[in-house]
Amino acid sequence: MTDSKETVAIVIPVFNEEHVLPELLARLGGLLAGQPGLAWRVVFVDDGSRDRTAELVRAQAAADPRFELVELSRNFGFQSALSAGLARAAGADAVVTMDADLQDPPELIPKLIAAWRSGAEVVRAVRASRSETGLRRMGFDLFHSLYGRLTDIPVESNTGTFGLLGGPALEAFAQLPERNRFFPGLRAWIGFPTADVAYDRQERAAGRPKQTLRRLVRYAVDGFFSFSYLPLRFLTYSGILVSLLGFILGLYFIVKRLLGIETASTGFTTLVSLVTFLGGIQLIGIGVLGEYLGRVYDEVKQRPIYIVKPPRR
Ligand code: UDP
Ligand code: MG
Repeated sequence: MTDSKETVAIVIPVFNEEHVLPELLARLGGLLAGQPGLAWRVVFVDDGSRDRTAELVRAQAAADPRFELVELSRNFGFQSALSAGLARAAGADAVVTMDADLQDPPELIPKLIAAWRSGAEVVRAVRASRSETGLRRMGFDLFHSLYGRLTDIPVESNTGTFGLLGGPALEAFAQLPERNRFFPGLRAWIGFPTADVAYDRQERAAGRPKQTLRRLVRYAVDGFFSFSYLPLRFLTYSGILVSLLGFILGLYFIVKRLLGIETASTGFTTLVSLVTFLGGIQLIGIGVLGEYLGRVYDEVKQRPIYIVKPPRR
């Protein structure tokens, strides 16, 4: 036997992170040095950075073969970059998924591994506290309370990407073919025994958040539509309700007519509000259908989730 050590891979998507990389690499170095009993792999996925991110990781990989760089051909977004990293880590005994910005402290990783050792196939790092404030914070809270109520497979509200997947969970994840990927949802969907480890979420160590608010909103919408039929069901229910009301209204006028009570020929306000109200409901309905249709279109095109940059010549 040459090497019977367990392999633990750490997958980190990076996008324009030159300012945090030095500290991240130093802290990862400390972690690896403290756990010599494991065969480590640190897989950085460069998601089309326009700064020195790839260069810094490449230098680190040249100095220490435990570090690897996967370069995507352009910016595909966090979820795609994460999938690229998980694919590269295939075969590892366990994979840790984390952000680069040190909001997820690498020092927690031994605890994630300990939870995995005691039998969990999926380990989620749960935030005992959150550093986001203001609009972002409100957005996160609103998303999680709605998501928990509306979808069939709820996601623990204080978890994000940070966590660990055991080998079987990693294989299960690789079988999921969808293009619209919402990692916490998929991780819950797999259904493997799960453990939680609490931690304090830190401030971003340097630089600005790379996920724009628009991206986060898109991500939240993706989360809903990939895990819930409720918007469609809601349309059906409101359709049934409105037609029932129409039926009763019709009956009312017929009976009135039969009894010989004259119906006033006004009612312009009622008509206008009914027409606009129903028109609005129909437009919303088309929009909701469109959300699903667009996602179906994405899947049907069968495009890969990411493209790796061609090797340099
Ligand atoms: N990231 C990425 N591609 C993107 C945007 C972000 O790979 O298009 C990475 C980023 O480098 C970081 C992680 O995703 O490692 C989380 O990003 P950020 O901290 O900006 O997001 P937030 O903390 O708001 O979730
Ligand atoms: Mg962050």
